[in-house]
Amino acid sequence: MRDKTYSLIIPLYNEEEVALECVKRATTVMEKIDGDYEIIFVNDGSVDKTVPIMEKVLAANNKLKMINFSRNFGHQIAITAGMDHAIGDAVIVMDADLQDPPELIPQMIEKYLAGYEVVYAVRAKRKGESIFKRISAKVFYRFLRYMCNIDIPVDTGDFRLISKEVCKVMTSLTERNRYVRGLVSWVGFKQIGIEYEREERFAGVTKYPFKKMLKLSIDGITSFSTKPLTLSKNLGFFIALIGFIYAIIVVIQKFALNMPNTGWASITVVLLILGGVQLITLGIVGDYIARIFDESKNRPLYIVSKKYNMDEHND
Ligand code: UDP
Ligand code: MG
Repeated sequence: MRDKTYSLIIPLYNEEEVALECVKRATTVMEKIDGDYEIIFVNDGSVDKTVPIMEKVLAANNKLKMINFSRNFGHQIAITAGMDHAIGDAVIVMDADLQDPPELIPQMIEKYLAGYEVVYAVRAKRKGESIFKRISAKVFYRFLRYMCNIDIPVDTGDFRLISKEVCKVMTSLTERNRYVRGLVSWVGFKQIGIEYEREERFAGVTKYPFKKMLKLSIDGITSFSTKPLTLSKNLGFFIALIGFIYAIIVVIQKFALNMPNTGWASITVVLLILGGVQLITLGIVGDYIARIFDESKNRPLYIVSKKYNMDEHND
């Protein structure tokens, strides 16, 4: 029989429109579950009314806890901070905007009690998201799968349950540009997916603008694969090969066919393409070096400015 205390982690970044509803639905679900629980909100440097709204709620129920970051550190880091402070035998991560329905949690817990260490939620359908987001997400997850040497399930976000053991491993990983869902796959253990329909955001707008989405995607690829480096090397070989073939053609034209050597246009084209390819491959190499630089500084992942309702067990 597995132990039954649960930690629910919910990151909040400028979620004043959804915070109360989120608390309501999450506590309703957790109250009904057999076992004790805590809900850890991680306020990722919100600048709207999220904090005063949450402070009121936290004062009324000490099973609700919160960590304030000193500034915005990003969604993935917020989740990690939640894991660092969770004391449950199983830890569940959920978005605040109720796109991940908390009502799915009992099903996840069922699987956990049946012996699974990781239960991830697979988005069978996505409602209320732009065509661009849906298509880019579909393409990205499949591209990531092609690029990486580990098996990251497609169409899966961070909505998942992990056991205490997996959580311990996760918190021992110190890498900075984190792609949490990838790391959970990398960890291994007995994993299973359950399908659900991704709802519309309850209120407010997405806190993942294009720039953040792009960074997350690049983090996903670069933290699990060096294939981009191999690909850029192969591209170099390929283009050099074309250059050699073209050189032979030019020699034949000049000496065997006696054709005059003309064509400043072709020179310009080749020059531009080569210049572009060089910059791109250099950029890819640079990206990896930037990551080494980030890691070598060894700064803490996040800075906590305040904790609410947390006791010594949470540290
Ligand atoms: N979030 C965060 N820090 C950020 C961006 C987002 O903690 O810098 C939280 C946000 O409050 C929400 C979750 O991450 O609980 C997912 O964000 P969102 O719903 O905006 O992303 P989307 O569902 O549009 O991909
Ligand atoms: Mg959302």
